[in-house]
Amino acid sequence: MLLINDLGRHNGALDAELRAAIDRVLQRGYYILGPENQAFEAEFAQYLGVAGTVAVGNGTDALELALRTLEVGPGDEVLTVANAGMYASTAIRAIGAVPRYVDIEPQSMQLDLRLLDAAVTPRTRALVLTHLYGRMADAAGALAWARARGIALIEDCAQAHGAMRDGRRAGSWGDLAAFSFYPTKNLGALGDGGAVASNDAELLERLRSLRQYGWRGKYHVGLEGGRNSRLDELQAAVLRAKLPHLDGWNARRRAIVQRYRAGLADLGWQLPLPPGDDDVAHLCVVRLAARDAVRSALAAAGIATEIHYPIPDHLQSVAAPGVSLPETERAAQTILTLPCFPELSDAEIDQVIAACRAAAAEHAA
Ligand SMILES: *Cc1c(COP(=O)(O)O)cnc(C)c1O
Repeated sequence: MLLINDLGRHNGALDAELRAAIDRVLQRGYYILGPENQAFEAEFAQYLGVAGTVAVGNGTDALELALRTLEVGPGDEVLTVANAGMYASTAIRAIGAVPRYVDIEPQSMQLDLRLLDAAVTPRTRALVLTHLYGRMADAAGALAWARARGIALIEDCAQAHGAMRDGRRAGSWGDLAAFSFYPTKNLGALGDGGAVASNDAELLERLRSLRQYGWRGKYHVGLEGGRNSRLDELQAAVLRAKLPHLDGWNARRRAIVQRYRAGLADLGWQLPLPPGDDDVAHLCVVRLAARDAVRSALAAAGIATEIHYPIPDHLQSVAAPGVSLPETERAAQTILTLPCFPELSDAEIDQVIAACRAAAAEHAA
């Protein structure tokens, strides 16, 4: 089976470097918030071009801690999209706040900024802007809109490590930015991991306290709303080994999407937009009416696909009823994610393209 993201091949290609990183931690005997964490936080901040980053347990915690840092709380409303896997919704709901969903623009499948004015209320405290599938949403537009209304901007960069527009990386635009290092992400650990980035020293200090019980100093709790959400030294060491490879991996991902675009151009499917620097091609998502039939045909041909994501947040069983988001709902019925990871060979891409073309011919309608 050709996987959509073969992590064995991805991490296997870096075997010696990863073993050296893990060995370093074993020999040092320091496992939580030690020198690897400090070094990774500094190196990742430098890579992003921000004042600092705070490493945490995972990407959903990063979103939740970002919201807590801004003192968003019960009854407050947070604007976000409903097509990004429920992670932001989970974080918003965890602090007792209410997600208010904004529909998407169908070509990019990113938040449609033209709909923000209709969604904002006096209770709106923050906007979580997701850079979906690795392509940057309109961060400049969202920032201008939020600033003018005194609303905080949190970027969800869990799929967009390294994306850059106008010389600025994703994660350097908002008040705060959340990253995940889940193994499948463009920069992935060998387990869970996350980080929050910011240019605001005060917010960074609050984050450092909130990720560790609200401590002001050891055993001295000074902040309400603290958690335990830390990154292991082992994962920090792994991420330090992988970070220098990120730009190269992202370039290869873009080339993969370009090859798919050329090979599938005449099928009438909606293809990913041409990827530039502001797109790190985390997922190669196409749209087609005969999605389910084509997906079955690809599986029969030994090619794994996925749907990111099958159930929009507002239609999950735990969501408040009565919300309608036509473009988000249409997208969920027609999206299909094709294999895309840096080690995927041109021959394998061509094999996927051939299988797509055969399936499309069979299920044209
Ligand atoms: C993966 C992901 C997250 C959550 O990350 P975890 O580390 O799995 O909690 C958040 N937002 C988006 C868009 C993601 O893809």
